[in-house]
Amino acid sequence: MPWCHNCGSEYIDGVECCTDCGGPLTAEAPPERPDPGPVSLVYLTTVSDGYEVGMLEALLRENGIPCVRRHREAGEYMSVLMGRSVYGVDLLVSGRDYERADELLRFLRSGEFAADEEG
Ligand SMILES: [Zn+2]
Repeated sequence: MPWCHNCGSEYIDGVECCTDCGGPLTAEAPPERPDPGPVSLVYLTTVSDGYEVGMLEALLRENGIPCVRRHREAGEYMSVLMGRSVYGVDLLVSGRDYERADELLRFLRSGEFAADEEG
């Protein structure tokens, strides 16, 4: 069976180009991807516990990015930032998802995400 090494798709005999990416097909299956090993989590952001963390988690999940909450011991960071004592939550994502998650976070904070709720 022909295979596309670019995207790993398998095709039926007679197909010469990958319909997904247009790459040439080869007779052999692509080599097994190396085991990525244990997922390493990286710090994404700190949000206030409650509404904001729920919204961000939902957005990440919609985009197929698993995230992990890490509750802070105390609220110093958020209390300085917001002038009141709020417990913050650190959100962590896996390293390979970080760039996409960061983009989504910026999108969320730009206000566009909630824009349709007004007027
Ligand atoms: Zn392909």
